[in-house]
Amino acid sequence: MNIFKLARANVRILEPYQSARRIGGGAKGSIWLNANEYPQPTFYMLRGCNLNRYPDCQPQEMINRYAVYAGVQPNQVLACRGADEGIELMIRAFCEPGQDAILFCPPTYGMYSVSAETFGVECRTVPALDNWQLDLPEIYTRLDGVKVVYICSPNNPTGNIINISDIRKLLEMTDGRTLLVADEAYIDFCPAASLASWLMDYPHLVILRTLSKAFALAGLRCGFTLANADVIQLLLKVIAPYPLSLPVVDIAEQALSIEGIRQTSQRITEINSNRDLLVEELAQCPCVRVVFPSVSNYLLVRFDPAYHVFQTLWDQGMILRDQSKQIGLSDCLRITIGTRLECQSLVAALKALTLSPST
Ligand SMILES: *Cc1c(COP(=O)(O)O)cnc(C)c1O
Repeated sequence: MNIFKLARANVRILEPYQSARRIGGGAKGSIWLNANEYPQPTFYMLRGCNLNRYPDCQPQEMINRYAVYAGVQPNQVLACRGADEGIELMIRAFCEPGQDAILFCPPTYGMYSVSAETFGVECRTVPALDNWQLDLPEIYTRLDGVKVVYICSPNNPTGNIINISDIRKLLEMTDGRTLLVADEAYIDFCPAASLASWLMDYPHLVILRTLSKAFALAGLRCGFTLANADVIQLLLKVIAPYPLSLPVVDIAEQALSIEGIRQTSQRITEINSNRDLLVEELAQCPCVRVVFPSVSNYLLVRFDPAYHVFQTLWDQGMILRDQSKQIGLSDCLRITIGTRLECQSLVAALKALTLSPST
């Protein structure tokens, strides 16, 4: 019997998200610059919890701490299993399969389409402009039937912030008919650009946050959705009954303590300064064509295709993220900002690259 045939049609054709972990890096990988993780471990100890009972669905102390950190009210915070779950909950709560659509602006993060396709919801794309800002007139003409618009700021993988005035126009254009989700997975690296203070003005604004990036806790699987109470109440209808395990809650609370947030600020300062140094160094490498400005913990770089950068570095154990298949990103790789030493090793490897004889 062919089990495959029994699967839903959209699942049969679904291409799963190509996460850095799925792509792997072979046995050789030693410098991991492909998943925008913090390069070094953080040390937490479980404070000890009884695991015989189910956890609260939304542990109050954790919610309160994140609300203070984000500058919003506790009833505007939903804790979830990473920002990825927030992406999916929006589709589950708001999109009718086979009828409603989501809209996003490539090149951008890959999970918006994977989540929509899993649920049989149409993906509509409006490519970003050459400067990777929003094509507002085109979005406007394509909004019919769209329930959720996803924007990503800072955008993964391009590294830029979406213009604040454009986001305001988009919020006005979507008012009353479409939810606008701002994916702020990297906002901790440039907190001034957050839209969190706009929540009180826009009932249809939703913000996604995570502990995976600046908080150095990608392995924890913990994120937050910020929105007005009506949206949060709808998401609570479709979220799993116990989305966060007690050890996750324990560590998230520690990460959101005053000391935890102080350590995160230190990491942000370190990563931002490593990034600025790496930008200067990359500009000196013959194989580099363009280093795109970034306010985040990664850089998008366009290389001279004749150098075969991705494969050569892979063979040397330096794992980067290939973005060249995305619209507008030919010959582009995304490089996560690692430790100072990792940045130096990367630059040394790039400077040593020679033109391959075959080209
Ligand atoms: C990493 C990332 C996420 C997912 O974050 P998790 O909290 O680890 O699920 C969401 N959006 C963007 C843009 C990301 O880069």
